[in-house]
Amino acid sequence: MENKKNYQKLLEKELDLIEKSGKKPKLLLHACCGPCFTIPHEILKGHFEITILYNNSNIYPKKEHDRRLAELKKYIKDLNADIKVIETNYDNEKYNLDLEPRAGDKEGHERCRICFRKRLKEGFEYAYKNGFDYFGTVMTISRYKNAQDINKIGESLAVDYPTVKWLYADFKKNNGYEKSLIIIKEHEMYFQEYCGCKYSYEAYINKHNTSK
Ligand code: SF4
Repeated sequence: MENKKNYQKLLEKELDLIEKSGKKPKLLLHACCGPCFTIPHEILKGHFEITILYNNSNIYPKKEHDRRLAELKKYIKDLNADIKVIETNYDNEKYNLDLEPRAGDKEGHERCRICFRKRLKEGFEYAYKNGFDYFGTVMTISRYKNAQDINKIGESLAVDYPTVKWLYADFKKNNGYEKSLIIIKEHEMYFQEYCGCKYSYEAYINKHNTSK
C-alpha cells in the first residue's frame, strides 16, 4: 500500500521558504464556505496576499450556494480582512453532467474526485490567466474530504500551469477541524450539514427522513 504523505508538513516547509524570501506571494485560494475558510486563513494570512475563488456550482440548491457565499463574506467582513472574493457563474445543471455517471457513489469516492478536479482545474485556469503565484484550496480541512486525493489532483493539474504553484495542505492536521469549530461558534456561523451536491443533499435528506 502506498504511504500517505503529510501534506501539512509540506505546507509548513513552503511557508518557511516564503518567510525566508521576504516576499508575500499572490495566492488564489478556492473556498467552498465560511467554516472551511477559518483555519486556512489563520495559517496563511501572514504569508500571502490572498484572493478567494468561490467557484462552487456543485452546491445544490442555489439558495444554499448563495447562503454559503454570504456566510463567507460575512466572516471576512467580521475580520475586517482585505480579501477579494471572485465569484464564478452558478450552473449546477451543467456541472452535474460530469457527476451524473457516478451519481450512485458514496461520498469520498470517484464522484468526489471528479468534483475536486473540476473546481481545481477552473481555479488553476483563473490563477494562470491572472498572474497568481500559488493556487490552493481550503477543502482539506473537512473530515470527509481525502487530502491525499485533493493534493494528488492539485499536483497533477499544476503540470499544465507552469507559473502557478500548487499549495499543498492538509488543514485538518494539528486539530485544524476542531479549532475551526471554536471559531464557527464564536462567529455564530451557519455550518451546513451536507457536503454540497444534490447527491449528497438527497443522501442527507434520506438519512434524516425530512421533507425537502
Ligand atoms: S459529496 Fe461533495 S465533493 Fe463529493 S461530489 Fe458531492 S459536492 Fe462534490
